[in-house]
Amino acid sequence: MSLPATVSVLGSTGSIGGSTLDILEQARRGGAEFRVVALTGGSNVDLLLEQARRWRPEVVVLADETGLARLRAGLAGSGVEAAAGPGAVAEAAGRPSEWVMGAIVGSAGLAPAFAAARRGATLALANKESVVCAGPALMAAAKRSGGAIIPVDSEHSALFQVLAPEQKGRVARLILTASGGPFRTASLDVMRQATPEQAVAHPNWTMGVKNSVDSATMMNKGLEMIEAAYLFDTPESRIDIVVHPQSIVHSLVEYRDGSTLAQLGPPDMRTPIACALAWPDRLAWNAPRLDLPALGALTFEAPDLDRFPALALARSALRSGGRAPNVLNAANEVAVAAFLQRRIGFLDIAALVEEVLQATDGGQNLATTAGDEVIAEALQVDAEARRVAADVLTRIGQAA
Ligand code: NAD
Ligand code: MG
Repeated sequence: MSLPATVSVLGSTGSIGGSTLDILEQARRGGAEFRVVALTGGSNVDLLLEQARRWRPEVVVLADETGLARLRAGLAGSGVEAAAGPGAVAEAAGRPSEWVMGAIVGSAGLAPAFAAARRGATLALANKESVVCAGPALMAAAKRSGGAIIPVDSEHSALFQVLAPEQKGRVARLILTASGGPFRTASLDVMRQATPEQAVAHPNWTMGVKNSVDSATMMNKGLEMIEAAYLFDTPESRIDIVVHPQSIVHSLVEYRDGSTLAQLGPPDMRTPIACALAWPDRLAWNAPRLDLPALGALTFEAPDLDRFPALALARSALRSGGRAPNVLNAANEVAVAAFLQRRIGFLDIAALVEEVLQATDGGQNLATTAGDEVIAEALQVDAEARRVAADVLTRIGQAA
């Protein structure tokens, strides 16, 4: 089996990052030989130190500069370099390594994803927000450099696995499945009162807090629809969403002759991570297996657009194109953070996103070249949308 000889994990201290290190550990136990080039984290110094001691990478980087002194002290004499700051994270992503896991959360992952894509790495991409912010440019950068982007988001990993490149022109629809999250059957009144604790308690998946809140609002599925449109070059009109509470069928491709192919598996992110590590080979690891008789039944239902307005917002942002998806994402990141800080209610998340979309000019197109100016422009749109969102938040706060 041929696995990459050098790997980097961006966002190694998070949920996907930890699962990635687990898969790497299992690959190593199975005899794989590879070297770890870079591990990066946000602000968790202790966990990054522990990972550095275990994996002996060339470099470890924290996004948060305030932890650098402790990181350096902890690594003194180890031969592992330490650095900090957003620029250092992107620099680490740009260091030669064959395979990069992009598992940073939010638009903070955009510049590092570009740095990997532009140097021809195989980018295993979990960080859906970077695709939403600048998908076409990211795809173009990977294509130009001879690199590859392998989706890790479970739905997109499913589509990637059942969508053979030579069949692309024969696709009728991409069907993304959604668990429906913790409020799938909740009333609007219950949702209005929902606390951060209730919103992050996902029935099927263990994830970082941001992704969990996105699952509860279903903005996650909206972002994933945009992610699918860009990754698989498919118009919004050909992407459907179906709620599937068991999270066993991860997504489906319907071909024009009426044949529909699906990918199934237990809800465990290590399976799409293993797939992205070994592709087109298949890693033998201690994977959980499906027990179909024990499952008994799989059910499907239409999403409720009244209780989950984020779905329509994302669809309309994708239809508008240009900067709108980028604005949608930034406003959502601000709104989710405000909800987690109990500054706004659960239903205010989508309301805030809608207001920011209306207040910003989404019409202009981002360039699709692969130069630094694209990243700079996308980050500028992101920053501007965050400013508008902060203003709206202040207004909501004054009204309350
Ligand atoms: P997480 O919050 O658990 O981890 C995020 C990682 O990014 C951590 O290492 C954190 O320290 C780092 N980070 C945070 N802010 C940063 C910044 N400003 N700069 C650099 N690094 C920063 O999140 P997660 O659940 O692992 O999700 C990571 C990405 O994968 C997200 O884009 C998410 O949507 C996507 N994803 C996650 C899952 C899942 O099951 N967890 C599934 C599909 C897709
Ligand atoms: Mg997903």
